[in-house]
Amino acid sequence: MNRDDQIVRMFGAFGVKPSKSRLEIYLEWADKISYESLTNIIDDVINEEDRLPTISSLNKINRGSAASNQQYIDPENRCMYCEGIGIIPYIKENDGVYIEYQARCKCSSGMRYSKGIPNYFDIYPDFQFEWDRGKFSTYIQLFLRERYERLR
Ligand SMILES: [Zn+2]
Repeated sequence: MNRDDQIVRMFGAFGVKPSKSRLEIYLEWADKISYESLTNIIDDVINEEDRLPTISSLNKINRGSAASNQQYIDPENRCMYCEGIGIIPYIKENDGVYIEYQARCKCSSGMRYSKGIPNYFDIYPDFQFEWDRGKFSTYIQLFLRERYERLR
């Protein structure tokens, strides 16, 4: 399947017979996008949209999928606090009851979360639990252990 076939496939899926000029607009749009992205976008559109999307909504879908690709986290550069998740859990005790909460990390992954979620480092200057890196390879592992001991 080439780019043109993909566009024809999309029109076909929505039962639309485009005029020549309309088809050309879509083909021009498809030429500006990598073949892989085009295939993914059209798969998404066919699975999720109720009607043939306009060029402007196709552009929105394209931008959305580019943004979600950027969320891929390189393990080498992973944030040591949140492991790239953007959220760090903590535990608070209230009248003998432990409750788990979540706060935003200070890294770029944490910045993606709403400002309504508290910033972890406003609550704790460093980690809530002292992290012995020789014993736990990630802070989250240590946290899960601490949580287990309190919540069991
Ligand atoms: Zn982080």
